[in-house]
Amino acid sequence: MNNEYDSHSLSFEDALQRIVAAVKPLTAQRCVSLREALDGITAQDVRAPMNVPPFVNSAMDGYAINSADIPASGESRLKILGKSFAGKPFAGNIKPGECVRIMTGAVVPDGADTIIMQEHAKVDGDHIVISPSHKKGQHVRHPGDDFKTGGIIIQAGERLTPSKLGVLASVGVTELQILRKPVVAFFSTGDELKGVGQTLKPGDIYDSNRYILYGMLKKLGVDYLDMGVIADVKTDIEQALQQAAACADVIITSGGASVGEADFINQILDDIGEVNFWKIAMKPGKPLAFGKIGDKLFFGLPGNPVSAMATFYLFVQPALRLLEGEKPDAAIQLKARTTSLLKKQPGRKDFQRGILHVNNQGELQVDSTGTQGSHMLTSMAKANCFIVLPRDAGNIEAGSEVDVLLFNGLI
Ligand code: AMP
Ligand code: MG
Repeated sequence: MNNEYDSHSLSFEDALQRIVAAVKPLTAQRCVSLREALDGITAQDVRAPMNVPPFVNSAMDGYAINSADIPASGESRLKILGKSFAGKPFAGNIKPGECVRIMTGAVVPDGADTIIMQEHAKVDGDHIVISPSHKKGQHVRHPGDDFKTGGIIIQAGERLTPSKLGVLASVGVTELQILRKPVVAFFSTGDELKGVGQTLKPGDIYDSNRYILYGMLKKLGVDYLDMGVIADVKTDIEQALQQAAACADVIITSGGASVGEADFINQILDDIGEVNFWKIAMKPGKPLAFGKIGDKLFFGLPGNPVSAMATFYLFVQPALRLLEGEKPDAAIQLKARTTSLLKKQPGRKDFQRGILHVNNQGELQVDSTGTQGSHMLTSMAKANCFIVLPRDAGNIEAGSEVDVLLFNGLI
């Protein structure tokens, strides 16, 4: 017997699916310069206005020759007519018995179809001597090898990474349409909470969650509005929620969502929005409020900092990505062997904090960060992954294979 099973609780997967289903991607677009587009989401497919590479060019430093001059046996002597360097093509063409000195990226002159690496050519005055061991067409890059004119190089809904900026630059794109970033307003609730720099009275603690949320939202690249700490006063919270709904696409609060006496958020949201209070069969992060205030998404995260982080990472992050118009990609889970016993009761899906590493044999191993209390934020700060344990599992013995979800730099 254990008390972790709760017939009123929602599975992690169902909760995520309900959140995903409620998100309607933003559609407003803006035109930005190529540099400004970094980390943005493309609003439209981008087609290549030209071939890349644009012209026939050499993949090696060496000599451009015609393959008819590769000897069947013995050697061939070819006269060096001139040079083709990157950006400085050879003006002219080559005929049988001739070659051109060529550098990587330089135009292969008309009449040539093959490159001899300089290491494989003997220079003899103004001639080179080559052996039979060469293939027609070797070391030549052709127009459109990477992509061809008219082909889609970036699809709508892709996040623009540095490599994608490079692809766009390679066809001369100067500006493009990206989707508007969501605006997220957030505040902490709790009479006990003080911001850093304030003095703590007996019973007070510093507010960690707003700094966590600031960090995660900033790293996600969305626009954010930090509304501070709001005391456990019904009218104050109600006013803050209304204000947030007026200026943001998403509202995130932390704390005050459970059934404690000072937990007004539930009551207020019942009045001003359509919000569901879920007990999710997961650990950490059991209570989560999710819904809408008008057409704005609302997340009421748990107050315990580890729970707030885990629920942000697992639910809010995918929702924000979808809202911004990004095509969802499945999170990559790895398998690793746990180096320690992982304590668990059946009934909730666990996201324990782990440190993934490669052992001396080159195998993936994961260490627990130790005690897993949801108020112990250092367990998160030490970790680089969640160890994901299925709902029905009990204790996991040391040496067992477990699923691991790597943090993507957000935590
Ligand atoms: P609550 O959800 O308001 O009942 O809070 C649960 C626990 O999390 C309590 O121990 C709170 O003091 C703590 N907590 C709530 N909000 C924060 C916060 N912003 N930073 C640090 N701890 C918090
Ligand atoms: Mg509270």
